[in-house]
Amino acid sequence: MLAESTPYVEKEIEINPWLSAAARFDEAAERLGLDEGLRKVLRMPTMELTVHIPVQLDDGRLEVFTGYRVQHSLARGPAKGGIRFAPDVTLDEVRALASWMTWKCAVVNIPFGGGKGGVICNPDVMSMSELERMTRRYTAEIIEFIGPERDVPAPDMNTNAQTMAWIMDTYSMHKRHTVTGVVTGKPLELGGSRGRPEATGRGCLIVTMQALRRFGLDPANTRVVVQGFGNVGGMAAKLMARAGFKIVCVIEWDGAVYNPHGINPEALMKHREETGSINGYPEAEPIDPHEALLIDCDVLLPAAKENVITTANADRVKAKIICEGANGPTTSEADAILADKKVFVLPDILANAGGVTVSYFEWVQDRQGYFWNEQLVNGRLEEIMVSSFKDVVGYAEKHNVNNRIAAYMLAIDRVANAIKMRGIYA
Ligand code: NAD
Repeated sequence: MLAESTPYVEKEIEINPWLSAAARFDEAAERLGLDEGLRKVLRMPTMELTVHIPVQLDDGRLEVFTGYRVQHSLARGPAKGGIRFAPDVTLDEVRALASWMTWKCAVVNIPFGGGKGGVICNPDVMSMSELERMTRRYTAEIIEFIGPERDVPAPDMNTNAQTMAWIMDTYSMHKRHTVTGVVTGKPLELGGSRGRPEATGRGCLIVTMQALRRFGLDPANTRVVVQGFGNVGGMAAKLMARAGFKIVCVIEWDGAVYNPHGINPEALMKHREETGSINGYPEAEPIDPHEALLIDCDVLLPAAKENVITTANADRVKAKIICEGANGPTTSEADAILADKKVFVLPDILANAGGVTVSYFEWVQDRQGYFWNEQLVNGRLEEIMVSSFKDVVGYAEKHNVNNRIAAYMLAIDRVANAIKMRGIYA
């Protein structure tokens, strides 16, 4: 049975993230002619850790939560990747996300491998002190496996700068000195980086701008549909509107709003702050959220969750460009449909890599103990995103493959070369 919250898919198997990640890896490895042994090394994570975390709840009861930390590859540097707290976290999901982090870091050519973590819990029903105790105990359970030189977690779904501060503090207490570089996405006061909250959305803007040039579009004539008005989608919409784009539709979990003349994202954010929802925004019409993904537009920016463009709707997508702000918004089976329609896809491992790129800057600044101004952060982010876009699109043209497979091929080639140069320790 499919959950009611996944109305975009017809087949359960299509939405298994680990199968999706493996399908793309296999296709890219095949096209690269990757050595069979290296395929085996790169297909599976280096390390998978499962921990059972006892936590005293506020009412005195003892609960045990299950958590994971997966390191997919350490070939190019420490593992890097977020920690999510959610009731439906699975080891398969964490594995897939860890492998995506390996490829993402390689696409933007930063010296990290890939990792991911998760704890099965429902943060909506937990108090701050329960979340703090769970986070600290989870950190203590995985402490031997993380560290600035080893594995550097970051926020993901339902974790934030406060969670990172607790992890940093717990790690530092065990080490008996302050170690800011153990996590990224920290508050500015504790070694966070300027520009980090905007980084993923800014990266989406930068690569979309590059794609527009190829279509001879200019921002003023570009209609954008944004799904997910959170950190990534809200920030991308705000920055795109400031750059002159027309945000014609915003889709949230509880509704969607449409205005063909453009929506002011900052006014919509204010409306949501005041009312708790984007619904009822007076400067736009309500529209069915599932149909909204399929309206005529130039850029579709899925920035909410995985598996929203699937075999059930891909053939009806009208966007010329899809900028994948979310991780895994398109299933591997839908890729082929979009490729046939010649939709220009900016794949997640490129499009949303602005976040991990500025996380890399944060790690560098923590290790130097010297902090950059926002202009420097944004300038260096732009440089990396533009050159990564060119690398991926150039690779796609050279090898006659779509952008996603090109991004995977480029990334797999970089990681495989690192392994070849290092050799296999025996
Ligand atoms: P977020 O929680 O800040 O925002 C997500 C938004 O999507 C929320 O406003 C939520 O209400 C909305 N949403 C949830 N379900 C929806 C649905 N069915 N339809 C429409 N909207 C829905 O999260 P975020 O940090 O913006 O992350 C979004 C995606 O981007 C995730 O896939 C995440 O893994 C990915 N991502 C985030 C970052 C980052 O730096 N935050 C970096 C890379 C990738």
